[in-house]
Amino acid sequence: MSDKNLDVTIIGGGAAGLNAALVLGRARRKVLVIDEERPRNRVTRESHGFLTQDGISPSEFRRTAKEQILKYPSVSFVSGIVDGVTGVDGDFRVHTGSGDAFRSRKVLFATGMKDVVPDIEGLAEVYGTSAFVCPFCDGWELRDKKVCVIGTNEKVFHLVKVLTGWTKHITLLTNGMDILTADQLLELEQHQVPANQDTIKCIESVNGFVKKITLRTDEAIECEGIFFTPNLVQATSIPESLGCKMTNDGPFAAIAADQMGRTNVKGIFSAGDASTTFHQLIYAASSGAIAAVTIQLELNEEEWDGFRK
Ligand SMILES: Cc1cc2nc3c(=O)[nH]c(=O)nc-3n(C[C@H](O)[C@H](O)[C@H](O)COP(=O)(O)OP(=O)(O)OC[C@H]3O[C@@H](n4cnc5c(N)ncnc54)[C@H](O)[C@@H]3O)c2cc1C
Repeated sequence: MSDKNLDVTIIGGGAAGLNAALVLGRARRKVLVIDEERPRNRVTRESHGFLTQDGISPSEFRRTAKEQILKYPSVSFVSGIVDGVTGVDGDFRVHTGSGDAFRSRKVLFATGMKDVVPDIEGLAEVYGTSAFVCPFCDGWELRDKKVCVIGTNEKVFHLVKVLTGWTKHITLLTNGMDILTADQLLELEQHQVPANQDTIKCIESVNGFVKKITLRTDEAIECEGIFFTPNLVQATSIPESLGCKMTNDGPFAAIAADQMGRTNVKGIFSAGDASTTFHQLIYAASSGAIAAVTIQLELNEEEWDGFRK
């Protein structure tokens, strides 16, 4: 057991966890960030759409953030995986895979989501360089290019529709899955988006840049970029095991947190991708900042009341 008595343990050091650490460090709170260091966007060379940071590499974004946060001496970082949280509000224990346990008053889950990438030969080689998941993040880079959209679930029709804002040269590949309705097939035809329902044999690329996609029938489709719809799962099931409610109304289960980052379990907070269906760095960072302010105000109230009693 670590003898550290922390105010807050932040699990996850992506945009959400880092912004929370910055706000809490500036509020002079004793904070520990425990991070497995596998943020969702680690596969990309550049990240986009974050004011003043457009085009920055994900690793540089986090390196700069950490450098700035470490100016605040009450914040520290540990690299590792949290595999359990026990205790109650005011006295949690956060356990790591290496056998450490850290005592803290509040816990923030900023653990993000994991992408389940379809098992297609050649996709791993292009993922993050010319194959992406979100047009708002990487659509500009593929504007007016020949793009194949690979569907793994029902979200694919929506993705095609949204993508037409960036390019009109779209081919939809369902990779052998029955995920389009008759009405959707008709609409795609009306919008001149070819939809091919064959299984994909492989993706060919050079240095991460896709050149063509070959189908099981040996038909080859030339393309310059790919978008696909990954299935998303929570990076950790610990919040659920603690009794945190999950939302079931979106395309995947998110941790149910109010707009201030509070879950239904007292003392447990959540921010970033893990607790929303809107996945952008700037949103993750802002929700981390909001959760941090909420935590600080709660700690402050408890101290004020404790002193008064
Ligand atoms: C390919 C791709 C490209 C993207 N490009 C962009 C872009 O250009 N612009 C943009 O705005 N958004 C982009 N996004 C979305 C963006 O990556 C996410 O919205 C953002 O990373 C969410 O931040 P987060 O802090 O919630 O989670 P993450 O960044 O995923 O960070 C979560 C952290 O928690 C850690 N963690 C998880 N479980 C544990 C545990 N049990 N113990 C310890 N640590 C743990 C993880 O290892 C990780 O380091 C992209 C996403 C993908 C998949």
